[in-house]
Amino acid sequence: MAPIGARNEYDVIVVGAGFGGPVAAKKCAEAGLRTLMLERGRRAGEKVISGLTIPFYGFLFGPEFIRDGNPPIERPVDGIINYIIKDIDTGDIDIEDSLRVPKPLSPVIAFGYNAYCQPFCEWEAERAVESGAELRTSTVAVNVLRENGCVRGVVTDTGDSLGAKVVIDAEGCQGLLAIKAGIREKYPPDTISLADVYDYEMAKEDVDRIFGHTLRFCWGWDEQRVAPPLGYGNGLMVWPYRNSLHFIQDQCLKAESGKVPSLKDFDEYHRNITTRVPWWKDDVAPHISLRSRMWDGFEIYVGLDEDLRNMPNHTDGMILIGDAAGLESTELCDGVPAAWFSAEIAADVAIEAIRAGDTSTSFLKRYDERIRAHPIIQWSISRTNRHDLRYAQRDHDEKRLKALIHNGWGLGGFTHMSTPLAEAMLGAISEDPAIVTSWIRMYFRYFYNWLYERFGEHHGKLSAVSYGTQTAGHRAFKRSLESLDRVLERFSSPIKRAAAFVAPASVVANPVMKALLPILEPVYLVLVRILEPVTEPLSKKLIDFVKRADPSIFDSPRKKGVRDAKDF
Ligand SMILES: Cc1cc2nc3c(=O)[nH]c(=O)nc-3n(C[C@H](O)[C@H](O)[C@H](O)COP(=O)(O)OP(=O)(O)OC[C@H]3O[C@@H](n4cnc5c(N)ncnc54)[C@H](O)[C@@H]3O)c2cc1C
Repeated sequence: MAPIGARNEYDVIVVGAGFGGPVAAKKCAEAGLRTLMLERGRRAGEKVISGLTIPFYGFLFGPEFIRDGNPPIERPVDGIINYIIKDIDTGDIDIEDSLRVPKPLSPVIAFGYNAYCQPFCEWEAERAVESGAELRTSTVAVNVLRENGCVRGVVTDTGDSLGAKVVIDAEGCQGLLAIKAGIREKYPPDTISLADVYDYEMAKEDVDRIFGHTLRFCWGWDEQRVAPPLGYGNGLMVWPYRNSLHFIQDQCLKAESGKVPSLKDFDEYHRNITTRVPWWKDDVAPHISLRSRMWDGFEIYVGLDEDLRNMPNHTDGMILIGDAAGLESTELCDGVPAAWFSAEIAADVAIEAIRAGDTSTSFLKRYDERIRAHPIIQWSISRTNRHDLRYAQRDHDEKRLKALIHNGWGLGGFTHMSTPLAEAMLGAISEDPAIVTSWIRMYFRYFYNWLYERFGEHHGKLSAVSYGTQTAGHRAFKRSLESLDRVLERFSSPIKRAAAFVAPASVVANPVMKALLPILEPVYLVLVRILEPVTEPLSKKLIDFVKRADPSIFDSPRKKGVRDAKDF
């Protein structure tokens, strides 16, 4: 093996510039570490699967530069409509659509954001490079370098031997470095799901009119042949973007019957949905044209297996993050927040290890401890809801199926996500109370950016607005947030103490929601309907407020190194 020259010596090498890699690289570079990011694609985030929904908690509790920045989002999401298809021929289809951000908050306050992977990851990677990380694209890390049994860098497909004190493996679920480093085995096929994605073009007015800001999911009995019947995770999901749609169906690489997915089956389910389900056939089909079809795998059920959940995620000189560490969510199919959270934790630990001059397993163990202590990561990788749907579908157990859908993609979600969310929220406030105004500004800024397609840090399209239209409302909004900033700063210490004091009480949030939801939910749903004549126009007013704003009022005062919006 070629000796490592000084030029090829780094403090940290991050393998993979998908969702997690750039977050880790940026943090390491900001700490003054010589950091290299390797990406096998020609561009960062160049992956087969091109789009997804990133839930709000990823943005709220994830990296500050994303929350306070202008990442390229495709559409804010305000809820999910679930279709429970009992008989496709007679049209016996039930609807569960309780999970909606209520008006007037929606769509400015979103439940998540749909994004295309490539531009989003590239935006992240650009931020890492701005902070001093080096990015090499079209370069594959093919093996690890070892010295006295410790990982000391990587070997690339171009024959380079690149040394590093710590390697952060952000290769995604199909990476091989963790296996080559002897940290873990390949994921078993029954934990990997194969996703079949159709990418359709659709005019923005049609997406707005037909989908608005809502995802649509379909669930059906196996013999309806509307969604993959093998393995676990039987469902079809439709993602609306700015002017396109994704139709995603997925199933495990190996089912309990031992069968493997067949593309012929996928073709049949796609045909059945698109030609027989009324809303697709009549509303969607006339307005779309197919741009591409793609396949990708993801390690959806790793977290459900006790042994796999306990598999190592680090070794001497190396840490695994995101999908490479098996952190894809078994609950909602949302791996991006876990990739971001784990990337930040890995970077912190790498920085501490390098400063302490100790990159041994026993030092890096603190990475594992922090991952296990992370309320949202642990909640999202260990819930069995999506897995259990399979059995409800197989057994034609309608009651159970509806309960599982309600718990996974309806208001029932609050019976198990309230505790981790409350814990994460109080944890964030106890570290920095000013984060509260960052959250508020983020929602408004993201919505503004979506309206005007103003993404990146230098691609503003601000000519569409006239600052002359700033109203008293805008001035009051700005002043209120500034006052709140001052209060949070002035009382920072007592707020931190109070949040830390209250945090342990988060454990009661789930049981309380479980006890109260049967009463709260029907009341809430009736109220939402009754109040619609008032909330609908208010929601339009809120959109108009954002539309006419000078966007600088939504910028975070904490944001460093980014020019004022007016300067674009
Ligand atoms: C169909 C589908 C739908 C999904 N939907 C959602 C969703 O709605 N919401 C959500 O939050 N998550 C979703 N996910 C999961 C999400 O995409 C992943 O959890 C997330 O991308 C993980 O981030 P990561 O950084 O660990 O890996 P990735 O984002 O996969 O990035 C890995 C990067 O490493 C590069 N790479 C790999 N090997 C090497 C190597 N040896 N050398 C150099 N570069 C390498 C790859 O090219 C890639 O750019 C979905 C996944 C799929 C497949």
